[in-house]
Amino acid sequence: MIPPLARRFVAGESAAEVLERARQLQARDVGTICNRLGEHYDERGPADEDAAAYCRLVDDIADADLRARVSVKPSQLGLDVGEDVFRENLARVVERADDRGVFVWLDMEDHPTVEATLNAYEHHARETGGNVGVCVQANLRRTRTDLERLAELPGKVRLVKGAYDPPAEVAYRDKQRVDAEFRDCLRYMFANFEGGVAVGSHDPEMLSLADSLHEEFGTPYEVQMLMGVREDALFDLADDCEVWQYAPYGDRWLSYFYRRVMERRQNALFALRAILSG
Ligand code: FAD
Repeated sequence: MIPPLARRFVAGESAAEVLERARQLQARDVGTICNRLGEHYDERGPADEDAAAYCRLVDDIADADLRARVSVKPSQLGLDVGEDVFRENLARVVERADDRGVFVWLDMEDHPTVEATLNAYEHHARETGGNVGVCVQANLRRTRTDLERLAELPGKVRLVKGAYDPPAEVAYRDKQRVDAEFRDCLRYMFANFEGGVAVGSHDPEMLSLADSLHEEFGTPYEVQMLMGVREDALFDLADDCEVWQYAPYGDRWLSYFYRRVMERRQNALFALRAILSG
């Protein structure tokens, strides 16, 4: 069972719990991006199981007519086992989702996986006419050029700063430089992505920039935040723009919870206070 402490960041262990989370968020005008926790499988079995679980989740979302999407990780669908395994599993999920009218996001993982992820995205963006989205990381040097390729495709792109720690040959490692790249990429996207822009950030400065760029270019946009992070701000934003919460679920929650707690001092203090008080 997930301890109450971790429940702030993780919807639950079962699909039923993430669906319940989606119902609660929908009542507050917030959509849910459901991510089944799991990554870097080195055998085919768990990758096939997660693909099957996503297909069931897609059916549940469609049957319940929920404002929810799914977000998959390439290595969860078998990319470390082989690109063919990943492509096969992704096709199963995307085809089912397309049949049932559910949108599929592809998360972006560490830098050696970028090319395979973008290639798979391009294929499905064309096949489905845009019922898929992909995440790109502003800290990677290649991203600004990748955006030019992605601007030509149907589908959606979520810009994030980047959660991995890539080497300097491929990435900007200075925070100010990453922020500058984020601003630059965001401007490019608002100017060139007619179908809309997804901003995956909790940073008030970037969210206000997105709002100004929306005023300047008229391009539609959505804000996406992680479950448990700046939720009050997300609910406030729901009055003015399209907002989504990324809600992870599943029994592999421990390492995800650990990452959330360690990435910010406030989260660590919150965890410590909860342990001491109860
Ligand atoms: P930061 O640069 O971390 O912080 C800037 C400011 O934002 C802070 O000063 C503070 O004001 C505010 N802030 C940030 N975090 C918090 C917090 N926990 N509590 C309160 N205020 C806070 N990364 C990937 O590499 N691949 C992915 O596929 C991916 N998908 C993502 C999907 C979503 C929906 C989101 C929101 C993030 C995703 N990320 C992904 C993570 C992303 O790359 C960043 O690591 C993460 O969002 C932190 O960057 P930031 O822009 O939120 O702000």
